[in-house]
Amino acid sequence: MSKADGQLFSDASHRLTTALEHVDLPDDVLETLKYPKAQLGVSIPVRMDNGELKIFPGYRVRYDDTRGPAKGGVRYHPGVSFDEVQSLAFWMTFKCAALNLPFGGGKGGITVDPKALSRMELERLSRGYVDAIADFIGPDVDILAPDVYTNPMIMGWMMDQYSIIKRQICRGVVTGKPLAIGGSVGRDTATGMGAFFVIEAMKPKLNLNPAQTTVAVQGFGNAGAVVAELLDQAGYKVVAVSDSQGGIYAPQGLDITSIRKQKEASRAMKAVYCEGSVCSLIEHETITNDQLLTLDVDLLIPAALENQITADNATQIQANYIFEVANGPVTSAADAILEQKGVTVFPDILVNAGGVTVSYFEWVQNRSGLYWTEAEVHRQLRQKMVEETETIWLIAQTKQVSVRTAAYAHALNRIGEAVTAQGTRDYYVNHRI
Ligand code: NAD
Repeated sequence: MSKADGQLFSDASHRLTTALEHVDLPDDVLETLKYPKAQLGVSIPVRMDNGELKIFPGYRVRYDDTRGPAKGGVRYHPGVSFDEVQSLAFWMTFKCAALNLPFGGGKGGITVDPKALSRMELERLSRGYVDAIADFIGPDVDILAPDVYTNPMIMGWMMDQYSIIKRQICRGVVTGKPLAIGGSVGRDTATGMGAFFVIEAMKPKLNLNPAQTTVAVQGFGNAGAVVAELLDQAGYKVVAVSDSQGGIYAPQGLDITSIRKQKEASRAMKAVYCEGSVCSLIEHETITNDQLLTLDVDLLIPAALENQITADNATQIQANYIFEVANGPVTSAADAILEQKGVTVFPDILVNAGGVTVSYFEWVQNRSGLYWTEAEVHRQLRQKMVEETETIWLIAQTKQVSVRTAAYAHALNRIGEAVTAQGTRDYYVNHRI
């Protein structure tokens, strides 16, 4: 598929075009970043438990690897398409550069409803995916990780399958693995914790007083539940949370730790509406996901899927600040409306970069064979998130641009340096050794 075919991708690359106005880079950089480096589409045959053979479409896109091996998660969802995977790979390129990780951007996915599969079918599908893409990935080529509806156990199967194919233990081909087979402590909470560090770094600059700061979180999964709980523990008033089934709202604040426990026990937010400690602890209303997005809160944290805030609902957003924990939850059309309304959006490529940052730490630990303590992971994660948040905020203030444009410009400068280091038109035409 060409880059021009997908709506999501054309929306994603619109951000690149905007950022380009604020950087001074050789044309070669733009030319390099216009196209994905490599794309792979595969058909994965899976023998189902009832004996039937089913074929699932799978994808892997390596968008750019000028700064290092491609890095990016694998998504299992019925809505997965080439367009989506390519957009996610594009975002990963900028995210890794924004955080100064020695990686390029990649992404993968399978069009499947994982909830409809048995565990053994899921294992066969995951191993089948690795069989199909094994020649396309590798610890120094393209490294997998978890994304929506994939988890450490699936990463463990993938690492094992790749190791079987290569006839050697290859821990570094996958991050987000279980600890027992080379995972890093702190990877499971890294995305939410990274987002929390971004908010904490912005607290003095935005004059946020946690006790008076209300927060709504859409998506109560790996990323959303962790940032909600850390904010709750830090004294912020988390007034609304939701999952794919719906949401709950309490103006006086929710007890996130007990909601997490309930959700883990029941696997659905719906089940905490009127059961167990949450209901007995605090009065609350049930709300839809659409209602959650337009609540009158200080911080809105979309942490579910892309395209949640669009031109259709952007005018109704009442939050002052949006922190994008999900990838691509705000469309570029919505960005323009929000900017006019004075809503500041902190972009995905910064806010949710804690996940890939600790994935990087995991890859480093796999290569060195020396494993870090949780305190060390948290210390290094905080340092990276705070440093890059402050730099990006400074660029936004200095250049008077949105935080998103500042983050892209910051990443572009780093990618630009790498492209330039390999020679540009100017070098080839005007210089002699
Ligand atoms: P997850 O599968 O653990 O959680 C997703 C959550 O969103 C679930 O609670 C699900 O019920 C909910 N959800 C799904 N559809 C919804 C809808 N229409 N409305 C409201 N809620 C809905 O996934 P995750 O790992 O937490 O990822 C969430 C987002 O964060 C994705 O955009 C992902 O790309 C991004 N992200 C995740 C990581 C990571 O390390 N987990 C890293 C970077 C970015």
